[in-house]
Amino acid sequence: MGRKYYCDYCDKRIQNDYSIIKQHNIGLPHLRAKAEYFDQFKSMEEVLAEVKYKPPCRSLKDGSDCLFGVLCRYRHFTSEQICQMEHLVNRTKEPSQKRSERLRKYLRNVKVRSDLFVKKRFDKTEVEKLPASMSLFENSMT
Ligand SMILES: [Zn+2]
Ligand SMILES: [Zn+2]
Repeated sequence: MGRKYYCDYCDKRIQNDYSIIKQHNIGLPHLRAKAEYFDQFKSMEEVLAEVKYKPPCRSLKDGSDCLFGVLCRYRHFTSEQICQMEHLVNRTKEPSQKRSERLRKYLRNVKVRSDLFVKKRFDKTEVEKLPASMSLFENSMT
């Protein structure tokens, strides 16, 4: 005994006792700290999708600090913030869509160009003029 249990999520030392740790792990402060830890890895798009259809939390109105934090089933973002987030998400989305459109066009052009290239290079008349080494190779294959 003596060594304390350290909770990474809560950055807190608690008594190294099974029932106390268990109690800690189901406690709201711990669950909130854990959820907030994972929340930081979410993209704005994910966060937005989660909060978009939630009704606003009471804490938004009276300016109080909501005890539930990210665990709250209500949103902690104002309508303006949701609007801003939507704007940002859409703005970051747009260029990649344009980029893939450009890439698709480019690839289509490459296909047309390489078809032309093959046609020119390996035109029937051209094939007949293949170097001897190559026709030799062809012969050995059959
Ligand atoms: Zn904890
Ligand atoms: Zn709340």
